[in-house]
Amino acid sequence: MHRDPDCIFCKIVSGEVPSFKLFEDEATFAFMDINPANEGHALVIPKEHTPDLYAAPDEVLARTVVTAKRVATALTRTLNPDGLNLIQCNGAAAAQSVMHFHIHVLPRITDDALAMNWGLKLGDIDAIGRLAERIRVWI
Ligand code: AMP
Ligand code: ZN
Repeated sequence: MHRDPDCIFCKIVSGEVPSFKLFEDEATFAFMDINPANEGHALVIPKEHTPDLYAAPDEVLARTVVTAKRVATALTRTLNPDGLNLIQCNGAAAAQSVMHFHIHVLPRITDDALAMNWGLKLGDIDAIGRLAERIRVWI
């Protein structure tokens, strides 16, 4: 499986960088975003390093979307949000900051006024860890 030794998400998959893991299977890995745009913000990635939508093989995309549905369902059971976005960014202009394909799973609250290209603001790490435990129950 292709891995980029300088990629932060490849390091998360290998365990070299810690994460609040929610789920993994042979092809995909899901974990909490540490700069959450909303409570419960999670990321789903293929284990194989692939930079963006265009480079990702169809099979990899399909597996990643299926895991995103699984995480979205668990998040919804945990937090009962009003809505939920799946967001995927390609290129700096589209606010892609990590060049390893990923899908944001983002719970939404009515009138939360969340805008695209949100800035990165470190979340409450203890609270994120506790929430990950609650979501894992549903995965
Ligand atoms: P994007 O801007 O679409 O490339 O999204 C990358 C996301 O990765 C951002 O929302 C970051 O908060 C998140 N992120 C970066 N490094 C980490 C990390 N070590 N653990 C969890 N999330 C991360
Ligand atoms: Zn990578």
